[in-house]
Order: sequence, then structure tokens, then C-alpha cells
Amino acid sequence: MRSWTRPAVPSLAALGLGEGERPSVHDVRSDARAVVPAGRTASMYTCGITPYDATHLGHAFTYLAFDTLTRVWLDAGLDVRTAMNSTDVDDPLLERAARDGVDWRELAEQQQRLFRADMEALRILPPDAWVAVTERIPQIAYGVRRMLDTGDAYTLPVEGDETAHDVLFDTTRQRRFAVGAGSRTDQAEMLELTREFGGEPDRPGKRSPLDPLLWRAERPGEPAWDSPVGRGRPGWHVECTVIAMEELGSPFTVAAGGRDLRFPHQEMQGHHAIALGATLFSDARLNAGLVAFEGEKMSKSLGNLVLVSRLLEQGARPAAVRLALLAHHWRQDFEWRPDELEAAEQRLDRWLAWAEAPDDDPSLAESVVPWLRVTLQDDLNTPAALQAVDAFTRRAPADEGSLAAIDALLGIDLLGVERR
Ligand code: ZN
Repeated sequence: MRSWTRPAVPSLAALGLGEGERPSVHDVRSDARAVVPAGRTASMYTCGITPYDATHLGHAFTYLAFDTLTRVWLDAGLDVRTAMNSTDVDDPLLERAARDGVDWRELAEQQQRLFRADMEALRILPPDAWVAVTERIPQIAYGVRRMLDTGDAYTLPVEGDETAHDVLFDTTRQRRFAVGAGSRTDQAEMLELTREFGGEPDRPGKRSPLDPLLWRAERPGEPAWDSPVGRGRPGWHVECTVIAMEELGSPFTVAAGGRDLRFPHQEMQGHHAIALGATLFSDARLNAGLVAFEGEKMSKSLGNLVLVSRLLEQGARPAAVRLALLAHHWRQDFEWRPDELEAAEQRLDRWLAWAEAPDDDPSLAESVVPWLRVTLQDDLNTPAALQAVDAFTRRAPADEGSLAAIDALLGIDLLGVERR
């Protein structure tokens, strides 16, 4: 589906500033740093939104983290391809639509519009492919059919309807990697998370309580599509597996998402991919930290969402929202405090004043570029990168290379931001 407008990203190499290094980032699967990619091409699949509570600061923080990675990759001169889904048919969306008395398609469309506008305002690089699940139903169903044929999946009758069958993934089958190993999750935690994410661990007939749904047979009042595995709709994990493999091949470089997706979502994506013939789903798996507000993880069900659109309506500059989020390390959970936004607005004002000061002594020939590169290559350390810019603006006049680097790597175009 249509993505959003791509912001311009200056090329530092074209300004004679050379290329950055490939970054080292924390990989969840190995719980260690990995330099990604190994070669000159980089690809990333990011788990997208379920379009019913867009776009809160938790979303923005996640997509900003992977936007930063994309920018570092581009600066390293890599050939980059990215893809993302939108879970535009799923239980939380359907429940919300039913509760509010709106058509689920309208709700999804409206929330995707909002998400697009917010991402564009924040100057987040759009994925090369933004794919709605409803655009790939036949491909996903074909993948599920294939897993049934290979014995990686099995059917369970739907209670009260003898003719309808759900399809589940068999986690008891011998797998190349033990279930849970990829997300460093033990049995008790896996069981708890399966329950929390609606995986029905107690459902009769399951071979393992952890077995996730691949295909949900049609239920009264729910959307459904005809398919080689019966009339129904896709399960949550397999949609990402199929879309990612279609768009990026396998293994691609990085599977990315918020930390709450670590299990079962990302774990099962990886197992589904191998069942579908991949040697490996992705080389690395990255998890962004979660954003809390008023003591709880930000979520629609808790009613503590801080929406990007609301902040912008209230007069926040998008670049300040960006700076407020970049002031936190991408892997670190944090609790949003409204005063952080004002601190970011002030930082932005200081940077703008610096950008307007003339470079009256070019013989200084200093640039913030090496500082930005060195901090960001080190597990995308944006808090350190912001401090490096702070220090630089106190010491040296604005120069073309530094301004371009702040735009290219941090996504802040100081020549385009409005003054307060
Ligand atoms: Zn996903």
C-alpha cells in the first residue's frame, strides 16, 4: 500500500566526508553485539502497527530506533532495503471496531492515515514496502498450506462447528532451534506470554500449550477469505514471516520490533520461516525498549496513550519530539515525562541559534561528523550523539558538513525547522 513521503537524506560522502562504518548493534538472539550486515547489502523487516491505536510515543520510539539504523546504514554506503507490515485484520482491531460501531476496514484505513502523517512529520524514513496483511492473504494461506503438507502444522476443529478447522503450528516437532532459544525465554515465561497474547494455551487438543495459530477459521461476524486451508484469516506471526520473506528473501539482515514482540511473535516468525524452507529468518533480531507513562506501559487498553498527533496539535515541533525520544537509548525502557519535551524544545532552540551563526573562520575546519559516526556505530547510542552535538555547538561554528550530518544521521534538518 502507499507509504509516506521520504525525507531527503543528505549524502555525507558526496560532501567529501567519506563513509561511516557498519554499526555494531545488540542482537537479542545471541544477547551480544553483532556488526550488521556482514556485506554491502542490508535489509530490515520491522513489525508494523495494528492500526487501532496509532501513533503513540511507544510506536514512535520503536520506528525512530530503526530509522536511526537505516540512516547509519545509508551513511556506510550500503544498499538498503526495508519492509514493514500493517496488521490490518486482527482481534484487537476487530474488537475496537465492534465496540465503537465502525467498520473494521474504515478503522484500519483511518489509523493508517494517521500513522502515515505522524511518521512523515517525524521525518522517519518510510519502508521500501509497506504491506497490509489484507493485501497478502493468498500468499499467507499458501504458506500455511505448505506447513500442513510438511507436517509442521495441524488442524483443530472449531468448537460448535464441526466443518471448520483452525490451523496451528506444531512446536513439539523437532526444530533446528529449541523453541524459546531465539528469544531467551524459559518455559514458564513462554507459557505466561502465550496466555497474555491470546495464544490460548489451555485449548483442548493442542499438542503443546505454546502452539500458535496459523489460520483462524471463519467465525460469525468476522472477516474471512476463501483459501486452500479453508475460509478464514491469518494468524499473527505467519503474516510477518510470509511478508518479510516475500519482500526481502531469507535470511535478511535484521528483524526488528518492540521488546514486547520478543515472544511469541518474533520467536514464532523465525520458526515459521525455517518450516517454509529458510535456512534462517534473519541474521540478527533487534528489540526497541518500551515507553511507559504514568507508571504503566503505554497501551490503548490502559488508556494512557500519549499520541504524537496530540503533541503536534498542542504545538510541539516534530523535531523536538524526535530529539526528546533520541535522548533515550533505543534499547532502554523509559517512562515519558512531559517536561522532557520542553527540554528537547530548548535543545532544538540552542542548535538552531548555532546553525544561524555564521561560519566566519573556515580555517577551524572542524566537523561533528566523526563524533556522530562514532557514537551511532556503537549500538546506535543516540543520547551520546546528542551530547556530542551539544558540545560541538559550544565549541565550533556551524559548517555545512556538520549540518548535513545532523540531518542525515539524526533526521534533524536545522535549516528547515521553524523557530519558536
Ligand atoms: Zn510482526
